[in-house]
Amino acid sequence: MSFIDPATAVQHLASYKSKDGLSVHELMDSTIRGGLTYNDFLVLPGKIDFPSSVVSLESKLTKNITLKSPFVSAPMDTVTEADMAIHMALLGGIGIIHHNCSAEDQAEMVKQVKKFENGFINDPVVLSPETTIGEVKALKQRLGFAGFPVTENGKFPGKLVGILTSRDIQFHENLESKVSEIMTTDLVTAKKGITLSQANDILRKSKKGKLPIVDENGQLVSLLSRTDLSKNLNFPNASKSADTKQLLCGAAIGTLDTDKERLALLVNAGLDVVVIDSSQGNSVFQINMIKFIKETYPSIDVIAGNVVTREQAAELIVAGADALKIGMGSGSICITQEVMACGRPQGTAVYSVSQFAHQFGIPTIADGGVQNIGHITKAIALGASCVMMGSMLAGTTESPGDYFYRDGKRLKSYRGMGSIDAMKKTDVKGNASTSRYFSESDAVFVAQGVSGSVVDKGSVKKYIPYLYNGLQHSCQDIGVKSAKALADESKSGNIRFEFRTASAQLEGGVHNLHSYEKRLYN
Ligand code: NAD
Ligand code: ATP
Ligand code: ATP
Ligand code: IMP
Repeated sequence: MSFIDPATAVQHLASYKSKDGLSVHELMDSTIRGGLTYNDFLVLPGKIDFPSSVVSLESKLTKNITLKSPFVSAPMDTVTEADMAIHMALLGGIGIIHHNCSAEDQAEMVKQVKKFENGFINDPVVLSPETTIGEVKALKQRLGFAGFPVTENGKFPGKLVGILTSRDIQFHENLESKVSEIMTTDLVTAKKGITLSQANDILRKSKKGKLPIVDENGQLVSLLSRTDLSKNLNFPNASKSADTKQLLCGAAIGTLDTDKERLALLVNAGLDVVVIDSSQGNSVFQINMIKFIKETYPSIDVIAGNVVTREQAAELIVAGADALKIGMGSGSICITQEVMACGRPQGTAVYSVSQFAHQFGIPTIADGGVQNIGHITKAIALGASCVMMGSMLAGTTESPGDYFYRDGKRLKSYRGMGSIDAMKKTDVKGNASTSRYFSESDAVFVAQGVSGSVVDKGSVKKYIPYLYNGLQHSCQDIGVKSAKALADESKSGNIRFEFRTASAQLEGGVHNLHSYEKRLYN
């Protein structure tokens, strides 16, 4: 038997009609294999000729917003409140604050995110020279900080006359003393118009904790804090608006008329992007809401959804959606497919909608069903530019709720927003905390979700970098240097896929061991 010269093996590939494996289009042909989920297929490896650290995960969230990492936290009351949204944005993604609360509470959370690392603090809390030290200490207790510029009229804006910080009041026992008696009046300030990096230089050189920014008349216009400066340095991927340097923040609303009032408060609080939260986005209610938002707040991007078919997507694109969220029935806490008979396997849904939406320049977000880094890679390969996660981020330090112990495990609650528990949520007085659930007037709640618990995952400050690095390694194995290339090369047929039989899926998991410990990162 004669062999071909091994030195020609690479050239020899040209004699095959196509590359090994299937193109994404062949894989996702639902007339052959039906609807697929992430576990039903694998991506074939490519060639590695670069380190994983060069892989860029920059991805579009909406038509106008690009993130450094494609991670979005779900608008659920056990996943995203201010703390989660702050950390998601610091780590290059974005958090969408849930709306299972009053509009005022939701707007307050948005404000907290926008105020968090805002380079310049544009609406600083100020003191009057007449304020007492007792009042300042109470203020510090309530707000958590104690670096206060003092203005002549005690208001902002106002003429800057001094500054009072933690160190000034720490050992001052007389609570009746006035601020004017102990404030520092020999001030280091900077002029309005100064750049963030110039202001940072002054802070560094003066060794002061606060830098008030004043205009030509000595009126206070903003404040810079050293703590914010160090946070800036620690989070190079942070998602921020280009002009204000404030963290980006999203929030969810429904499609009732009262949601228009809710949105007004959110916009006033500094909202960057709104998610219209529905399991079935193709409704006249949502279409009208999108039109209303685009007419009333043209600078706010709208993420519409959820959709799982081209037909649903087309309606929302025409209405003006700036991005689409994909997923019906794929979430970990979801019983929608069981109860409503509606939905679609998530892989097929992400592929169908994304390929359609891309033709119109509309990015897509794969929402629900993500259980590991491999699923994120697959969602992007199928065309989604970002992934929205609930269960992956629940149970972290930054998710709402307290830890509790059960069966020797440290847990946090995690529940569907269509679960009976979430729908019946009440405030401290026992009143419904929100009127969002339309079925409140119904005699019987029809649940679409369950409530349960998830294991403690530690802080997202470690967990998101784990997802980020893992995704970079995954792209490296596939042979692409960016998330965008992963999507583009899949679409063009260069990246290849393999369908996975049930036994192939078993083979891909840990097997044949008596026992093992699964530690994902350290
Ligand atoms: P929804 O607000 O879209 O719908 C609730 C009900 O209110 C529907 O019957 C709807 O037709 C009705 N409605 C909405 N606006 C109306 C208006 N202006 N006038 C009259 N009727 C109106 O919420 P949902 O789909 O029931 O979902 C509830 C929550 O559960 C959401 O947070 C959603 O994300 C979540 N959920 C998600 C999925 C999923 O697969 N992604 C599935 C189920 C539930
Ligand atoms: P400490 O009590 O630890 O000294 P601090 O007063 O120095 O706290 P910082 O650590 O500087 O406070 O700030 C904490 C957060 O509060 C920062 O993100 C900052 O942007 C914000 N912040 C600080 N001072 C003000 C202020 N006067 N008005 C509004 N926000 C402020
Ligand atoms: P620490 O850093 O020890 O936690 P702190 O937050 O109070 O304390 P600073 O804000 O640096 O630290 O304040 C230290 C002292 O410097 C205080 O007496 C304060 O009044 C003063 N100070 C802070 N900022 C300025 C400024 N821009 N100009 C003049 N004095 C300032
Ligand atoms: P997970 O990441 O698999 O846990 O799914 C989170 C997603 O499930 C959310 O972003 C929502 O789209 C969806 N979801 C939230 N609440 C419910 C519910 O009660 N029923 C069904 N799906 C839900």
